[in-house]
Amino acid sequence: MRSIAEALASMLPAFSPLGEEEVHLTESAGRYLSREVRARFDSPPFDNSAMDGYAVRATDVASATKDTPVRLPVRGESRAGGALPGHLEPGATCRIFTGAPMPAGADAIVIQEDTDRDGDEVAIRESSPEGRHVRAQGSDVSSGALLLRAGARLWPGEIGLLASQNIDRVHVFRRPKVAILSTGDELRQLGDELEPGMIINSNVYVLTEMLREVGAIPVDLPAARDTLTEIEAALRTALEADVVITTGGVSVGEYDFVNEAFENVGIEPMFWKVRIKPGKPASFAKYQGKPVIGVPGNPISAMVAFEVLIAPCLRKMLGDPQPHPQPVVARLRDSYHRRPGRVEIARAVATREGDEIVVALHRLQGSGSLPSFVGVNALVILPADRAELVAGEKVEAILWGPGLKGPISLFDRMS
Ligand code: AMP
Ligand code: MG
Repeated sequence: MRSIAEALASMLPAFSPLGEEEVHLTESAGRYLSREVRARFDSPPFDNSAMDGYAVRATDVASATKDTPVRLPVRGESRAGGALPGHLEPGATCRIFTGAPMPAGADAIVIQEDTDRDGDEVAIRESSPEGRHVRAQGSDVSSGALLLRAGARLWPGEIGLLASQNIDRVHVFRRPKVAILSTGDELRQLGDELEPGMIINSNVYVLTEMLREVGAIPVDLPAARDTLTEIEAALRTALEADVVITTGGVSVGEYDFVNEAFENVGIEPMFWKVRIKPGKPASFAKYQGKPVIGVPGNPISAMVAFEVLIAPCLRKMLGDPQPHPQPVVARLRDSYHRRPGRVEIARAVATREGDEIVVALHRLQGSGSLPSFVGVNALVILPADRAELVAGEKVEAILWGPGLKGPISLFDRMS
């Protein structure tokens, strides 16, 4: 049986980015750039004032102090978005506001707080060296400079940078369409009448949201019944997507036909079973290079297999150069006894205590219990070879779902 690392090593090469598309900046949040982006122009685009005050020549105010202010005539004003100021003659000043263009000839700003205005004149009480409070043209970004590398994800800050450069369209990697094919005679859709023995196909709703969160496009297919012919037909439809995920039917039961159906349809098996708990019967296969992943039907197994095995692969496909989750170090609240052999991904509630994150494992770790996921904000990774974990020991955890939260503002703890 494969380790998680071996499973990922076999899966990841099948998940290459799908090519690029051009999208409007307002549609680009969360996407990964497929090309680097360079600056179209200097930023700031013109020398401007960082403060409200007076634009001067530094040499004109070099001797200014509280006791010996320098009096200068005020020649015009420059405000953000206003008419461009004229040339500033020596021995004069120009009223200026934050963001406004510097008049040609001026090289420093004296802040308003260091001045006394008196009609057409102003008394300057502080000197201001050349460049003080001036945001020089190109000081943030010079025209042609690299703004963002290929593979960068677009967060609000990156979007702001591109917007400031008047870049309204960007090239991003295509989002894969991921078909979700649930299998099981017992499955009914949300809102259906539930006859005895039937259950709602909750996996499809969970996986749809997990796919959306990763950034892929979910394609929900009607659940297939547990027959080879029905699963095979559904797989042929599913294979129109870029990636196929099946749920259920990958175990060893008499009605677990998924792996057999893969082969009948020409989907080449790559592996079956991973040393992970829950999620062991996960399988991976390829159809003409297209990845097909089978996850168990148990809701918790499906979620864990998605998070640990599928999500990193999809992030890679979406163009993420660092697709792997980055665990945090946490302390176990309670001791935990377990059967060694597989890496266990345990549901937990993480809280911050002092400088540390403490994780309390959920009482229920069964693979079918959906209530055991409520409030979970950490998936604790318990090493395969450990049977006894002791309260207080350090473990690794992937922050999950809602992440760390607390009732008290971080700032309340600071003076
Ligand atoms: P299987 O992997 O098909 O052996 O299913 C394992 C368990 O998960 C069984 O109890 C199924 O009823 C349940 N199950 C299978 N598919 C789903 C699904 N799509 N949604 C919710 N539960 C499921
Ligand atoms: Mg089944």
